[in-house]
Amino acid sequence: MFTRLIAQAASALPSQCAVCRGWGRERLCAQCVERFAAPVARCLTCASPLTGAAERCGACLQHPSVLDACYVAVDYDYPWDSLLAQLKFDSAAHAGGVSGGDPSLARCMAAIMRQRSAIVQALAQADWVLPVPLAAPRLAQRGFNQAHQIARQLLAPQSGASSPRAQLRTDLLLRTRDTAPQVGLGRAERQRNMLHAFALEPARRAEVKDSHVVLVDDVTTTTSTLCAAAAALRSAGARQVVALAFARTPAAAA
Ligand SMILES: [Zn+2]
Ligand SMILES: [Zn+2]
Repeated sequence: MFTRLIAQAASALPSQCAVCRGWGRERLCAQCVERFAAPVARCLTCASPLTGAAERCGACLQHPSVLDACYVAVDYDYPWDSLLAQLKFDSAAHAGGVSGGDPSLARCMAAIMRQRSAIVQALAQADWVLPVPLAAPRLAQRGFNQAHQIARQLLAPQSGASSPRAQLRTDLLLRTRDTAPQVGLGRAERQRNMLHAFALEPARRAEVKDSHVVLVDDVTTTTSTLCAAAAALRSAGARQVVALAFARTPAAAA
């Protein structure tokens, strides 16, 4: 109760924009969002930028993705790269466990994601919303999972909208091992690197069958982590798997 009062009081105070330092009500001002988060055409299944009217990139046409769709809000580039780093830093500074952390940046990122109608639609159709889990040692070291923070903000009640039926679940998908950084690896190496990185909680596997699942991550490089998680969900019978990330590394070829 007391915490909620403090949060309400804090949200009513003016705040400095994390990008341009202008004063406003939110951590990101509308002008910066408009300037740096303009929507671009992207491949339906790997979210790499596309020119022309094609729905999928050549790589996804050649090797169809295990994902039904992948939607991202922005490129992992200025200013979002430093804000994502700040999300981790702020959260670490405020952390009181997995659910701790300063939610204001995650809330802004979720708000930018919700400006994309495809993301709103994916959330409306979902049964389960799953943040991509960190391996246990990584989670213990960091104290929280920023994908979880963004997922929670994506499902936060919106004024004037009916509450989504989707539920946030962190008990279905397990990260069974940490993986080496994906940077610099080729397509086949990345897939091998991610093999068996995820599994379903055996006791809850049946809940995934025939369900519509939305996976949430903060950043995706090549979607190979999201694809590995999706493959585990597919093997348990998930009917639809859509991945959402706030940002995607722009230069990486799929
Ligand atoms: Zn600004
Ligand atoms: Zn693609």
